[in-house]
Amino acid sequence: MKGIDLKLPRLGADGRERAWCDIEKEFLALFKKGIKRRLSKITIKKSYPELKSFHTHLLRNMDEVLIGKPEVLPVWIRYWTFILKNLRSNSSKKRSPRAIEKNISSYMMKLTNAFAYKRSRNEGLNKIAVMINVKTCLYCNQNYTIVVGNSPDDKGNIVLDGSQAFIEFDHFFDKSSFPFLSMSLYNLIPACAQCNHKKSNNPYSLSLHPYWGDYASQLTFKIKDPDALTNPKFMKIDLMEVEIDDGGNAELGRLMRNLAIKERYSRHLDIVREIEIAKYLQPYYEKILSGSFMGETGCNLEIFDSESLRRYLYGFYNDEKDINKRPLSKFSQDMFRQF
Ligand SMILES: [Zn+2]
Repeated sequence: MKGIDLKLPRLGADGRERAWCDIEKEFLALFKKGIKRRLSKITIKKSYPELKSFHTHLLRNMDEVLIGKPEVLPVWIRYWTFILKNLRSNSSKKRSPRAIEKNISSYMMKLTNAFAYKRSRNEGLNKIAVMINVKTCLYCNQNYTIVVGNSPDDKGNIVLDGSQAFIEFDHFFDKSSFPFLSMSLYNLIPACAQCNHKKSNNPYSLSLHPYWGDYASQLTFKIKDPDALTNPKFMKIDLMEVEIDDGGNAELGRLMRNLAIKERYSRHLDIVREIEIAKYLQPYYEKILSGSFMGETGCNLEIFDSESLRRYLYGFYNDEKDINKRPLSKFSQDMFRQF
């Protein structure tokens, strides 16, 4: 929902800060050799020079495929689409349309095996996820993405082997249509299982890519009838009608419908009630935060950092830049504004 700025370093779950170029180096060190070795073993029939030339190009540009920035990925997709078009329009006696399709499928299967996404998930991608440390789903901001169970060593350092980390990645450009992008760092979007499952193979343009665009600012959550919240008649109801304003971005609207965001968020009525209370108590909270309240209570709130204290009082991250730090931050911010 909130895009990731690739110019800014990431603070890993292990407490170490890394620039994206360092994460890229780590990514190549983990995967390039094995993928290249497996790709080199792929054989292609002489009667399919189109596939041969694609494959040669792939092998020569491994770095670009594995760590090319998001804008590079559609270039590879266009190239592959061009190859497929050429293949399909050049059938002959030796290459019947059926044989062509069979060879395309077989080549794609070999690519899938060579890039070995499923195996890499357990053997290294978790380590990358710990470094990227995106805590909430970049599509919905409703769920957490990463579970890190690594324990500190004797010196208190977190051992970053990733073996106890569990992460779900969505392939922004789907891996069944484009297996050569199945292990591209910037095609792997930290997401929750629901979004990963729902988005599936639906294609979207680069503008909705979480490492490229940022749709949090275009999108607004609203609830249809905020007055109903304080009406005792509705206290037992555990559903509400959420509206999503996509700011006129039709593709964003399609993505939200595809992920069933409206329906999923309709279950957070309890959060909305709390936010309404927070809004009501805002002058009181601000008095506490300004320190003028401390004298009356005898509490010394200076021992807490003001950001944590603010968050404790209001109950959510209220700065847009912090949306990805906790589920429902975007929703909470919009509700707070609506009241
Ligand atoms: Zn999600």
